[in-house]
Amino acid sequence: MPVKNRFAELLPEITAWRRDFHQHPELLFDVQRTAGRVAELLRGFGCDEVVEGIGRTGVVGVIKGKTDTSGRVIGLRADMDALPITEQTGVDYASTIPGKMHACGHDGHTAMLLGAAKYMAETRNFDGTVVLIFQPAEEGGGGGREMVADGMMDRFGVQEVYGMHNMPGLPVGSFGIRPGAIMAAADQFDVVITGKGGHAAKPHECVDTTVVAAHVIVALQTIASRNVDPMKQVVVSVCTVQTDSTAHNVIPQVVKLKGTVRTMDPEVQVFVERRISEIVEGTAHALGARAEVNYQRGYPVTVNAEANTRHAVEVARAVSGKVDDNTAPLMGAEDFSFMLNARPGAYIFLGNGDTAMLHHPGYNFDDNAIPFGASWYAGMVEARMPAA
Ligand SMILES: [Zn+2]
Ligand SMILES: [Zn+2]
Repeated sequence: MPVKNRFAELLPEITAWRRDFHQHPELLFDVQRTAGRVAELLRGFGCDEVVEGIGRTGVVGVIKGKTDTSGRVIGLRADMDALPITEQTGVDYASTIPGKMHACGHDGHTAMLLGAAKYMAETRNFDGTVVLIFQPAEEGGGGGREMVADGMMDRFGVQEVYGMHNMPGLPVGSFGIRPGAIMAAADQFDVVITGKGGHAAKPHECVDTTVVAAHVIVALQTIASRNVDPMKQVVVSVCTVQTDSTAHNVIPQVVKLKGTVRTMDPEVQVFVERRISEIVEGTAHALGARAEVNYQRGYPVTVNAEANTRHAVEVARAVSGKVDDNTAPLMGAEDFSFMLNARPGAYIFLGNGDTAMLHHPGYNFDDNAIPFGASWYAGMVEARMPAA
């Protein structure tokens, strides 16, 4: 199963879809134009079912194979949203909307999955069902979480799910993947420390919240240095310290802290959340103040299941032969994690060659990557559900 010849033929058409999405970027859940076009194309391909409005603006297409003796249902996912960035690539198909740009290549992901859908609807060369998932709001809105919360996995009977992201710096035609954690969890926390404000010359009549905050910040460093196994990755950063005093001689009544937590292991994530509360509340109490912690979970760790990762590697090897199956994990976070928490599956990086990094105004998706990505999507279906 090398790169499918059909994708060489379809490349101009898929590229045209991709560049149309690129010229009309949309943010978060406001992807009506893109989602409408996706649904229209899926219907045109002859999908057995196309459902819009899942997870607000998500789209799902269903294609049944020639046979269904396997009873297997595989989900393939692409994301549709862009970023609030002003494009500086100078390409002739650049964004037509100031301040919005497909700087993460989701236009490419959507176009590649559409290409795979067109091919699979034509050939149906598999024994089972494929569910095509087009999600909104990957860039911070939790569109993947919304689609899962909307009952997508049960409604369409999805049993395993696969996702892909282009990666600058990885040569076009190559893939990178690893079993286990491949992207981090990103959480944030807010702390409010309340003491007793007053005259800075009379500290004994106050509970000095700035001193409490200083102890809290130092004590939080012990999570990474003393509590978590040094072989496991963790970041705890306090990034904002704000008092309600602007004077040189007033002890503030309240100090607020804000920070972020990055982890690669769900157990470490749960542990860090608990330790932050214990350390903040305990330190404040010891120094005579009160503290409240509001810990907000962001995207969870993106965890590739072992068996599904092996399947993904086999298909990627068949497509291009260039696969790093032990690629380094990234400390960024990915909304596909919600789908991988709901069903086993895998997430793979697709080489996008020598361009600016994701989220950079000079980033450019390389259309030469399309046949590799589309072949991998379709290959996962044909390999996991071989035609009877
Ligand atoms: Zn992104
Ligand atoms: Zn992205």
